[in-house]
Amino acid sequence: MEVDFIDKLTLSAEPAGLYIHIPFCIRKCPYCDFYSITDLSLKDSFTKALAQEMRFYAGYAVNVDTLYIGGGTPSVLNPGEIESIVSEARRCFNVLPDAELTLEVNPGTVTARSLRDYRRCGVNRINIGVQSFQNRVLGSLQRIHTAEDAANSIRWARRAGFSNIGLDLIYGVSGQTEASWLADLEQAVSFRPEHLSCYMLTYEKGTPLELSLRQVSFKPLPEERVAELFIETVKWLAENGYVQYEISNFTQAGPGGTGLYPSRHNQKYWSFAPYLGLGPSAHSFLEPVRFWNPRSVNRYVGRLNAGKFAMEDKETLTIEQQIMETVFLGLRTVEGIRMDRFNEKFKLNFLETFGAAVSKFKKMGLVEISENRLFLSHQGMLLLDSIAAKMIEAVSLDD
Ligand code: SF4
Repeated sequence: MEVDFIDKLTLSAEPAGLYIHIPFCIRKCPYCDFYSITDLSLKDSFTKALAQEMRFYAGYAVNVDTLYIGGGTPSVLNPGEIESIVSEARRCFNVLPDAELTLEVNPGTVTARSLRDYRRCGVNRINIGVQSFQNRVLGSLQRIHTAEDAANSIRWARRAGFSNIGLDLIYGVSGQTEASWLADLEQAVSFRPEHLSCYMLTYEKGTPLELSLRQVSFKPLPEERVAELFIETVKWLAENGYVQYEISNFTQAGPGGTGLYPSRHNQKYWSFAPYLGLGPSAHSFLEPVRFWNPRSVNRYVGRLNAGKFAMEDKETLTIEQQIMETVFLGLRTVEGIRMDRFNEKFKLNFLETFGAAVSKFKKMGLVEISENRLFLSHQGMLLLDSIAAKMIEAVSLDD
């Protein structure tokens, strides 16, 4: 496999983000389509292979300013194992002194002590998969933890010295009412987390939840109710000191309404910054090349044990694909698409290229334009996929 393009990372002035995928969970949640397995006996061979994968990059002197250990459930690894991963990352990459080091944890897998130990090994941001503070909702999502576990893990994380805590919540669950969702938001905000991700429950193809939906074995929350919950979320969080910076992401508001603690790592995904993904199923991006690892622990370990690079395949984005991604990813963010940058990068005029679609969506109140930015209104955010698809249809490079 051709890997010459990785040399460019060394030359890139922009530090890269480093993502490490821990492919283990205690139990699979029926709505989840992230790659993970429940056979923890493969932990050792995985961590060895991961160290091997990191060592592959050691010669490239890559600057890294965010490290995100996600999954799966990274907290199935004990603090000693996380510490080894962080130390190996520091040996193989130039992890910059002010780097953001995030660890995702599941409340059912942490203790006051493990959180203290994670903090000691240099993790400075913790993202807790709370999902809900109500046992009925947690039960219907088949989470392994209770509401009490969730609250305890937040308290323990604070006591362990984490001053940057993110909480993940899910809305749009069958049977959920506006009152029960607002109760979840209220409880989350009572802990004053620096960051909140509020994800709409989606029915990803091939998941057990999507299968039950097709078999009509439960009644999903109607789409219009879910849409109302989204609008209510943005409004309620704004009234309670949180600023939205991406469709699902909010952070404490500072002076002048600026977001104080956005996820620096996740912002890289929306801004075409370079990132490397290590571990099974992880994707990497080094414009205009995207490459990815096998979606299987066995294949991943097998490749590395055979002395091969983990990458399974790669694609080089065409100009049309780069435009499509710029539109789609830009519209996800509250800042939106910077039209001046778009024009400069693609040598096109944004408003001429997308004029018809933009004026139609503007009349419908779905997009807005201000200071060289095109961004979605809250109503527009609910229709991101169809708005982006319509705009992309308009791309004609023959002009
Ligand atoms: S714990 Fe997280 S990664 Fe694991 S199955 Fe559940 S949602 Fe997916």
